[in-house]
Amino acid sequence: MNSSEIPRYPLVINGETCEPSSGVYTDVVNPATGLVVGLAASGNEADVDQAVAAAKTAFSDPQWRRMKPKQRSKILLDCANAILTHAEELAGLEITSSGATINRVSNMDIPFIADVFMTLAEEVKEYPFVTSLPVRPLPEMGHSQVWKEGVGVCGLITAWNFPLLLLTMKVAPALAAGNTVVVKPAEITPTATMRYVEILQSVLPKGVINLVLGKGSVVGEALTLHPDVDKISFTGSTAMGKHVQHNCTETLKRCTLELGGKGPAIVLLDANLDIVASGALWGVFMNAGQACESGTRLLVHEDIYEETLSVLKQKTSRLVVGNPVEPATGIGPMSTETHFHKVMSYIESAREQGARIVCGGNAASVEGCEGGFFVEPTIIADVTNDMKVACEEIFGPVLSVIKYSRLEEAITIANDTHYGLSAGIWTRDQVLAQELARELRAGSVWINDWHMMRADAPFGGYKQSGYGREFGRYSLEAYLETKAVCASFETQSDQKAMHRIVHTQ
Ligand code: NDP
Repeated sequence: MNSSEIPRYPLVINGETCEPSSGVYTDVVNPATGLVVGLAASGNEADVDQAVAAAKTAFSDPQWRRMKPKQRSKILLDCANAILTHAEELAGLEITSSGATINRVSNMDIPFIADVFMTLAEEVKEYPFVTSLPVRPLPEMGHSQVWKEGVGVCGLITAWNFPLLLLTMKVAPALAAGNTVVVKPAEITPTATMRYVEILQSVLPKGVINLVLGKGSVVGEALTLHPDVDKISFTGSTAMGKHVQHNCTETLKRCTLELGGKGPAIVLLDANLDIVASGALWGVFMNAGQACESGTRLLVHEDIYEETLSVLKQKTSRLVVGNPVEPATGIGPMSTETHFHKVMSYIESAREQGARIVCGGNAASVEGCEGGFFVEPTIIADVTNDMKVACEEIFGPVLSVIKYSRLEEAITIANDTHYGLSAGIWTRDQVLAQELARELRAGSVWINDWHMMRADAPFGGYKQSGYGREFGRYSLEAYLETKAVCASFETQSDQKAMHRIVHTQ
C-alpha cells in the first residue's frame, strides 16, 4: 500500500465525520506484520469540547432522553442489526489493528456484541424506570414515585485488547439508559471503533454518539476533567484507573472502572486434568493473554502438580501461534512492539527469580508475519506468589503454576493480590466448589471453565480491579440517576402537619 492509499480515520462529531483541529494523523500499525494499516486523527481538547457540546445538546432533546422503552428497545435492536450487517468489515479492521484472530472476532466478539445490544433491548422493556412507593397516609396524603433517568453525557474510554467488545459493554447500556456519549478508544486500535461509531450513528439521532480519537493524555484527560461530562466509564490499567477516578472527583462525575486482574484458579485433587488443562489454556491464552480477566495463576495441589504440568505442556505444544487472519490461528501477536518487550521481560524475571520454564519463553516466529510481535505460549512452574509474574499483570501468553498443599493455603494465595476480577475452581465436587466460591474475593467466580461471561450476568471487579458492573441490568443501573418525585394531595393548608414546624402560630 502506498501512502496515498492508506485509509484515514477521522473524528465523528454531531453526526458528521470531521477533521481533527490539530490537522494531525498518526499511524495505525498491524501488530501481526508491523505494517501501517491506517492513519488515525489525533484529536485534542478543542475536539473534545465540540464533541461534548454535541452530546450535551443531544441529551437535552426530550425525544431522545424521554423516549418510550419500547422505542428504545427497537433502537437497540437496530444497533445490533447494523453491527451484524457490517460484521465482516468490522472484524477485518479489528484484526488488522489489534491482532485479534479471525476465529475469535467472528465466533466470539461479534456475536457477543449483538447479544449485549439484544439483551438490553429486552431489559429496557421490563426495567422499572418508574416505580410507585406505597402510599403513606401520615402525616398527610401524598404519593411518591422513583424515576430512573439517564445520567447525561458519558465519556467512554476503552483499551486496546478487545476494542469493539469493551466499547459495546459501555455504549449499549449508556444508550439503553437514554444518555449521550463521547467515545475515546485506545490510540493504537482506533480503526474498527471509528467505523462502529459511524455505523451506529446511522441509526441514532444526531449527536447521541460522538468519537474523538487521539492520545489518552490529551483526549482522555480532557474528557475526565470536562465540566459537562456527567459520567466516565473506563477500561484499562489499574494505575490509569486511579488517575481517572482522581480527575473525576474535580466535578464529582459518576465513574465506573474496569481495571486489571490476576485471576487465580484452584485445581483440586479430584479435578479432571484433561479438562483442567484445556480450560486453563483457554483461560490464559485467549487473545494471547491480553485480557483483564484471564486465568493467569493456576494453583495446583502438590500431589498432582507434575502430572498437571505435563498435560499442560502437551496441550500447549498443539496450539497454533500464527497470522490472525488464518482461521487455524489460536494465538495472535502482542499489541505493540513495546508490549512484546514488556511481556518478554516478565518471562526473564521469572527465570531470574528461580522459576522453571516448562514450555515457551521465547519470541515466536510466524511465516509471513516476520515484522510481527509474537510470543510463544509460555508455562512457568515453581512460581511462588511473591514473584513478579504472580503479582503483576503481564497481559501476555504466560501461565504461572503455583503449588499448594492445603486448601486453606490455596485460598490465601488466590486472594493474596490487590486485584479481584476473576477467580476459578476446578473440581468434580460441586458442593465444595460453592463453598470455595464464597471465599474467593473476585467479581466473577468460574467453576470448571473460564471466561464464562454472559450478556446478562454482572461483570466487574473487587478490590483494585475497579468498581461498577457491566452487562445487562447491572450495566443499565450504572448509567442511571435516581429521582424521587413526590406529590401532595392535601389542599387545606391547615391540614399540612409538617408546615407547623415553621408556621407555629
Ligand atoms: P491504559 O490504562 O494506559 O489505557 C487505557 C485507556 O486509557 C486508553 O484508551 C488510553 O488512551 C486511556 N488513557 C491514557 N491516559 C489517559 C488519561 N490521562 N486520562 C484518561 N484516559 C487515558 O492501558 P495501556 O494501554 O497503557 O496498557 C497498560 C497495561 O494495562 C497493560 O499492559 C495491561 O496490563 C493493563 N490493561 C488492562 C486492561 C483491562 O482490560 N483491564 C486493558 C488494557 C490494558 P491511549 O491508548 O491513547 O493512551
